[in-house]
Amino acid sequence: MDPTCHECNSISFCILGKPNKSIGNCPMIKNSEIENEALNLYKTDEIIKTTTKMASIVEASGYLLWPRLKDTIEFAKGMDFKKIGLAFCVGLRREARKTAEILNKYGFEVCSVCCKTGAIKKTEVDIPKEYTIFSKTGYPLGFVSCNPVAQALLLNNSQTDLNLIIGLCVGHDITFTQLSMAPVSTLIAKDRSNPHSPAAVLYTPYGDSYFAKDLKISQKEKK
Ligand code: SF4
Repeated sequence: MDPTCHECNSISFCILGKPNKSIGNCPMIKNSEIENEALNLYKTDEIIKTTTKMASIVEASGYLLWPRLKDTIEFAKGMDFKKIGLAFCVGLRREARKTAEILNKYGFEVCSVCCKTGAIKKTEVDIPKEYTIFSKTGYPLGFVSCNPVAQALLLNNSQTDLNLIIGLCVGHDITFTQLSMAPVSTLIAKDRSNPHSPAAVLYTPYGDSYFAKDLKISQKEKK
């Protein structure tokens, strides 16, 4: 039975240190051997030990006060990271530049790779022609493909200690993360319809009506 923690009010259970016995699939009961395996990793894996400790120190130090960039800086300092790589979307080049300036001021060495590096044509990597040049919503996209593979390989070559994603497209962020040798954190998650705040759609009635309409269209298309 797969866990479905999103259906449980964890505030009354695991956050208080106890499992939810009233549902049939609380992993603390159903998968206790996996929970124990996780606990063992916190005790034996040096990287997990250090990152877990540092993440909690950062959380406790700046709770509700620090922006994510400051959390990232403090985490990187605590981990003794010296060199930070930025894998950024061309559309967020200003944000990348500003991030680099701030990181430099905090003493980090920064290198970065733009998503269009390599200038590979979309048609060269099997992207159907109809999905190049213009979006279906009428915006210019260009003919050059995003290149998360080269972004990862170039930052690997620079031997970064940590890589930050700045607005890579959904999917390209996955490819980048798969290939990056350094640990990856997302500084900015791309969301073109909101100001790069993917959670925003969950907080507004607009989100509910958007998905209700979209589901109706998808179901119609299926028939
Ligand atoms: S681990 Fe158990 S208690 Fe915690 S949220 Fe999941 S189901 Fe609920």
